[in-house]
Amino acid sequence: MDKKERLDMFCYQCSQTVKGTGCTVRGICGKVPTVARLQDNLLLATKGIAAYLYHARELGYTDTELDAFLERSFYSTFTNVNFDAADFVRLAVEAGEINVRTMRLLKKAHVETYGEPEPTEVQTGTVKGRGIVVTGHGLKALGKLLKQTDGTGIKVYTHSELLPAHGYPGLKKYKHLVGNLGKAWFDQKQLFSKYPVAILGTSNCVLIPREEYRDRMFTTGPARLPGVQHIPGYDYTPVIEKAKSLPELEEKPGEVTLTTGFSKSVVLSLKDKIKQLVEAGKIRHFFLVGGCDSPLKRAEYFREFVQRLPKDTVVLTLACGKFRINDLNLGDIDGIPRLIDLGQCNDSIVAIEIAEALAELFGVGINELPLTLVLSWMEQKAVAILWSLLALGVKGIYLGPILPAWVNDDILKVLSENYDLRLIGDPEEDIEQMLSA
Ligand code: SF4
Ligand code: SF4
Repeated sequence: MDKKERLDMFCYQCSQTVKGTGCTVRGICGKVPTVARLQDNLLLATKGIAAYLYHARELGYTDTELDAFLERSFYSTFTNVNFDAADFVRLAVEAGEINVRTMRLLKKAHVETYGEPEPTEVQTGTVKGRGIVVTGHGLKALGKLLKQTDGTGIKVYTHSELLPAHGYPGLKKYKHLVGNLGKAWFDQKQLFSKYPVAILGTSNCVLIPREEYRDRMFTTGPARLPGVQHIPGYDYTPVIEKAKSLPELEEKPGEVTLTTGFSKSVVLSLKDKIKQLVEAGKIRHFFLVGGCDSPLKRAEYFREFVQRLPKDTVVLTLACGKFRINDLNLGDIDGIPRLIDLGQCNDSIVAIEIAEALAELFGVGINELPLTLVLSWMEQKAVAILWSLLALGVKGIYLGPILPAWVNDDILKVLSENYDLRLIGDPEEDIEQMLSA
């Protein structure tokens, strides 16, 4: 959209709203566009935090300080409470800090429930037999389903952000968790039409189904879809019965095998070797390339970027953005894989802790490490993660596929001047700039 066509702001949350439809230039209350946009930014980051908190609570992990932040954050965007742009920047940074704490809580919940992930090869084809595909982020839902399908002969497949589930000992122990089908969330319609399986959507990102598979799709947890049976709680009998009524899949091995499950411990067990290789000039630079994938054409950048990287570089990845690159055979550098999948988007905390450990190992700050973050954003978890990284003082992040639409010139100025945030450009030029910085 051309910048001139954009609304300066949009707010319709109180009865004073212009013409009873919406304040779009300036609020009747006096709220100015930058404050309105910073309120939106805070609300989006807070939604991201709420999603992680939801999954932690599902596993019995809570933190009242995190709940208290949600209250303060939502309340600050109420009518006639806070008109202070600088305070909303401060609150966004606080949201980033709170999100770090939330991701730590969720990681603890995952590891204490299912064990720490270990590198695991995952097949991408089908295995003969009836099947259920599970999509979303809900490890608890997947764990319950695996238990309930154990011994039934049904094969369970992950999709999108559940790929990292294969690395958790408490989940991979189920031999009928046989593989991963498809890539990032937006291939659902085509993928679910192709395979005659039952489908369980456990969280975002689920898409409104095509008619052809609506009756074999189910939701659980926070997900709901029109005309799709929702399963409250964790008794997945209807999904299992549906799978039993469907034809068997053929044995058809996939073209690639994916590797996931690089936990913090696994990566840090390699730290002395990594240090040696960096000092010997065999590893020149690390990149974190990942985040929330988006179907925009511009997101093709991320694959091209990784394909063009020199062979003395290592790529860490996470979230569904990994599907842009995780079929690439990047090889290794003296036994260190050049592509390291750290997990789901909430495993950004693992990336942060690895970066902190490497900074300590090399005796430098995070920004002095030979490390560049090249992130893709799609929705509100990514906003929370971006603010976490900014709150930790990470500078020079490259963001794509587009600049968030609520960022106006004032906000962009803060993001570029304080955090050196950059928008992705041409892959080759960006790589040159990153490696020469
Ligand atoms: S809170 Fe302010 S900007 Fe929002 S609708 Fe009311 S008057 Fe308009
Ligand atoms: S990483 Fe982001 S875009 Fe991808 S499935 Fe998860 S929440 Fe959705």
